[in-house]
Amino acid sequence: MISGVRGSGTIFLANCNLRCVFCQNHDISQRPKAFVGGSGTDQELASIHLELQDRGCHNINWVSPSHQVPQLVRGLALAAERGLSLPVVYNSNAYDGLETLRLLDGIVDVYMPDLKYSDPTAGALGSRVPDYPERARLALMEMYRQVGPDWKLGPDGTLVRGLLVRVLVLPNDLAGVEESLSWIAEELSPKVGISLMAQYYPAHLAARTSRYPLLARTISAGEWARALSALERHMVGDHHFVQNRRLAPAYYRPDFSDTETPFADIEDFI
Ligand code: SF4
Repeated sequence: MISGVRGSGTIFLANCNLRCVFCQNHDISQRPKAFVGGSGTDQELASIHLELQDRGCHNINWVSPSHQVPQLVRGLALAAERGLSLPVVYNSNAYDGLETLRLLDGIVDVYMPDLKYSDPTAGALGSRVPDYPERARLALMEMYRQVGPDWKLGPDGTLVRGLLVRVLVLPNDLAGVEESLSWIAEELSPKVGISLMAQYYPAHLAARTSRYPLLARTISAGEWARALSALERHMVGDHHFVQNRRLAPAYYRPDFSDTETPFADIEDFI
């Protein structure tokens, strides 16, 4: 699925290498049978990249690419031969293989990973991967090694090289925001760009079952205030984004039956 009507030319990959119980994208991330037989050729993938460039997008944004890197790189190489010149954004959950990331050195321009949890118990509860903190931190270290803390902007002011870590605040401190930001500041750099997200709402199994009471609500004003405070105390610089806690859970509710604009326009919510 592609979406390219705004700045970023987004390619949503079918399925995901995690199975988060609260996934807002579960319609496309956790339905492997729905996409059987839906694959195209490398040249068709190259054409999708070029179509996004033709629409005037600022970059190619691979969303949930971890499990389809070989195909993406083949399509990208063909697209480059046919004139693609946009930066490539690797937009993953950070549960990435180190070997894969090392192979992407010089291919990916912008890394935009999540850092979902700082505690193995939370990783097991929310995404069924208790080794998430360990693996994600190794992945972030490799991404940082490749692109560093500083951002390179293009002539129009858009990011063309750098690292932006997305930290989704979860209810009941399941994300461990304080610990994650502290780790980024100490082990990478306090200058690393951070996107602090307030958009959590119970979706998928967290909404349809009673098995996840800790994930059964949006975040409170107090939880958001503590996350903002942690951002201010641990990070420096101006590469930081924060969402509007009141609007974000309503705005970021995708409808993947709308293949062109699965996310609503922010103007509808102001
Ligand atoms: S990593 Fe993201 S897309 Fe994948 S299952 Fe978890 S929330 Fe969904």
